[in-house]
Amino acid sequence: MATVVERDTVQGGQPSIPATEPEARPERLPLGPIKTVHVFWLAGMSCDGCTVAVAGATNPGIEGLLLGVVPTMPKVILHHTVLSVEAGEEFIQPFKDAWEGKLADPYVIVAEGSIADERIAARTGGYFSAMGTEVLSSGGNSCPVPSAEWISRLAPGAAATIAIGTCATWGGVPSAEGNPTGAMSLMDFLGKDYRSAFGLPVINIPGCAPQGDNFTETVFAVLLFLQGLGPLPAFDELGRPAWLFTETVHRGCNRAGYYEEGVFAKNYGDPECLIELGCWGPVVNCNIVKRGAMNHMGGCMEAGGVCIACTMPGFPDKFSPFYKEPPGGVFSTTLSKGTGAMIRRARRLSNRHANSEVRWDKLNAVPSGWANVKGASPTLKMMEFFYKKWQFWGAKSPGRPKGTEERFWGVDRPGGTDDYLDNSSAREDARDGR
Ligand code: SF4
Repeated sequence: MATVVERDTVQGGQPSIPATEPEARPERLPLGPIKTVHVFWLAGMSCDGCTVAVAGATNPGIEGLLLGVVPTMPKVILHHTVLSVEAGEEFIQPFKDAWEGKLADPYVIVAEGSIADERIAARTGGYFSAMGTEVLSSGGNSCPVPSAEWISRLAPGAAATIAIGTCATWGGVPSAEGNPTGAMSLMDFLGKDYRSAFGLPVINIPGCAPQGDNFTETVFAVLLFLQGLGPLPAFDELGRPAWLFTETVHRGCNRAGYYEEGVFAKNYGDPECLIELGCWGPVVNCNIVKRGAMNHMGGCMEAGGVCIACTMPGFPDKFSPFYKEPPGGVFSTTLSKGTGAMIRRARRLSNRHANSEVRWDKLNAVPSGWANVKGASPTLKMMEFFYKKWQFWGAKSPGRPKGTEERFWGVDRPGGTDDYLDNSSAREDARDGR
């Protein structure tokens, strides 16, 4: 038989109301160590490429964040249409709890894909992208809930709102010229005045697909800040992590040396700078070559492909047609071909000089069994003489004090037998003395 439990009656009155209202603060949630954080991943007009990229992140990897084993990080509970094991109502319920303020822990929203203007689809009774179903009006049918609706519901209460990938950050391919769905970025959708519950505007991590570590590293930095354990990371005026997107990809490109020397690839597969094949790298904010596509490997130009500016707000329209040399490139390559021709030749001589031991210079012979490497020509020797004069002008040059003879140990030594401790000046002498 069931036992009836009497509920205690709460005694006492309401707490006293303070005489003055607290000062308005941009943060509506307390800062402090957070044990658990929910991440609601909302997909709009996307190809899921961002998800694939983040799944490949290594520094830190999402496994560590999900297991709660990354030092100083809260355990991340990820709600993701592809990666979550829950389905149906069980999957949707935490989204509703977050919207209704019933979650015990703070949450972050991540938007992948651009946000369609659902009013266009609604005119014909449809939708562009949605998740879950609801009866939206009394007595009505169950309808899919557009992703845009979920973003409107969850963004105001989110501790941070992050746009991942170029579609979510700038509109990307779905918002290209023509744009039948009215697709737009998260910034455009939420507006200039949007601030998260912790007072942050939208954080943008662009790329098509983005570099996975750029995302996890930024989430890491933001979570440190939200926990009160670190400063607010530096973001640029468009909400990009400044330490990742301030430099152009060209500055970190492994082919930039060829550009400087005015040497350009004519065909795919050539090792030189790809600008004449349509690379936009000199004007694109991206770190893909420095960081690699995944686990420090690959990356567009590293793998032989031109930069088509997929991280930029103007992508794709401002960078089309792809694989055609940009007009600015024609101008700058013409200049660098002129200066590069001179620099290249001077460097070739310096490189020849640097590729010789001091001892070989003295002997004027290179003891290599791989090839018949010739000693320096008289012209090169003369150039080396003046080069060294300039190099050590006002500085101490290496070697023994002036006037004392230099000594070499080994075979084929210059000088006479009196110059060496074992009285030998050549291989034969050394052998005879043994
Ligand atoms: Fe710059 Fe592109 Fe050439 Fe690399 S391939 S050096 S990014 S122009």
